[in-house]
Amino acid sequence: MTDRTCDVAVIGAGTAGLAAERHARRAGAETLLIDPSFAGTTCATTGCMPSKLLIAAADAAAAVRGAGIFGIHAESRIDGRAVMARVRKERDAFAAATRAGFEGVPQKVQARARFTALQTLDLDNGDRVRARAIVIATGAAPAVPAAFDAVAAHVLTHETIFELATLPASVCVIGAGPLGLELGQALARLGVRVAVFDKGGMIAGLQDKEASARLCAVLSETLTIHLGTEPEVAPEKDGVKVTWGGQSMVFERILLAAGRPPNLAGLALENAGVALDDHGTPAFDPETLQCGEHPVFIAGDANHDRPVLHEAAAEGAIAGANAATFPDVQRARRMVPLAIAFTRPEAATVGAIPGEADDGTVTAEADWTDQGRAVVEARAHGFCRLHARRDTGRLTGATLCTPDAEHLAHLLAIAIEQRLTAPQLLATPIYHPTLAEGLKPALRGICRQIEEAAPWDRVEGFVPGERRDRC
Ligand SMILES: Cc1cc2nc3c(=O)[nH]c(=O)nc-3n(C[C@H](O)[C@H](O)[C@H](O)COP(=O)(O)OP(=O)(O)OC[C@H]3O[C@@H](n4cnc5c(N)ncnc54)[C@H](O)[C@@H]3O)c2cc1C
Repeated sequence: MTDRTCDVAVIGAGTAGLAAERHARRAGAETLLIDPSFAGTTCATTGCMPSKLLIAAADAAAAVRGAGIFGIHAESRIDGRAVMARVRKERDAFAAATRAGFEGVPQKVQARARFTALQTLDLDNGDRVRARAIVIATGAAPAVPAAFDAVAAHVLTHETIFELATLPASVCVIGAGPLGLELGQALARLGVRVAVFDKGGMIAGLQDKEASARLCAVLSETLTIHLGTEPEVAPEKDGVKVTWGGQSMVFERILLAAGRPPNLAGLALENAGVALDDHGTPAFDPETLQCGEHPVFIAGDANHDRPVLHEAAAEGAIAGANAATFPDVQRARRMVPLAIAFTRPEAATVGAIPGEADDGTVTAEADWTDQGRAVVEARAHGFCRLHARRDTGRLTGATLCTPDAEHLAHLLAIAIEQRLTAPQLLATPIYHPTLAEGLKPALRGICRQIEEAAPWDRVEGFVPGERRDRC
């Protein structure tokens, strides 16, 4: 057993942990990075990157299948082994690049950590660590409810699906959040029979009922979605029998995508004395990432607040810097919230989405069902809703479910970060013919509801190449 001491111990070498270690070191702290495997981040190994690789394959298949509308006739034959082999080959390269980043970390130890006191960790290799401050960056893991124990041999999660040698014939997806729908739709577009079940009524993490319903309608062209439904599962020869509402169907595989609770159970947080919420997650300040007044900080998926990659990196940086300078802790200005589901069309939420009560915001919509560029590309579906302050016209939030929503969402995120008003955004150049032009009717709709009019010198109404007045 080795007794180690350091200024800042970081538990978890994922995106948040790596950022925390680097920023603590930059602030002059002696650091120790602790991880049981140093396999590479979740993003690179089983998250963002392999899921987008599978979606890219599905896009290629859909492009070939859909080419007929342009008068181009091609045969598509999907080689499931080749699809999965490319996913793994590129994924392994991303993961190797992440692992190369570990080389620059001066002090690291391969072990699992648990608290024995506020500033003391026991590692499962027998070492003990005493640190001036500790950053928890242990990420999250897929929930695997006990109801699926009987069919465990057929269950996949994002941690195992990318290891499949080939594409399965059929998959039942449990969970219609971004993860379940991204993977479910990709599999369906690659020829897999897919049904998605969710006990809730909304999909893709959207808070806007209409956007959720519209996305559901488009996705339902390639897969079946059952909302408000919790199916039962039972083993069946070569698969799983899934039963719901008097119906049943057999699937080769079940993909569990019903949430990713934080990896906190093994940390013995009770020994640290930090206050925990009902789910056992430490209470923390989102602007400092500090848990109470303690020398303990929590960043990334481990705190379950904004479980996306760019926030894990940002939170790691804030937590690491504050851990290094504890008790001198600085408040950070957090970014405008941005979440994207890479379904086709994509779904995105930017900024604040108002509830039912009047909170001083106005709202306007636009749709892409007859939008010039979307029609050109045979992707004419989609919808957005923008929100702005009634008194100033300053943009505050948006929901998008449109082709290439990822780019439109970034444009709106910049506008919201820069505190632009709807008239100011309308006064910037919006090129023709682009999908971004589709935002104009919503921006003009905001202008109509506020004191300030749309810019007088910008043409309203008819846009060349479009088939109706879109003001
Ligand atoms: C399928 C999928 C697709 C996704 N797609 C996107 C996307 O397109 N865009 C996006 O922004 N986000 C996406 N995400 C989310 C994104 O991947 C995560 O938000 C991000 O990776 C979280 O990073 P992290 O550092 O918090 O956790 P991780 O990268 O998971 O790191 C946690 C680390 O902690 C270690 N650890 C756990 N317990 C202990 C312990 N007791 N002691 C020591 N170490 C421990 C683990 O070994 C691990 O290395 C996706 C996630 C999934 C699952």
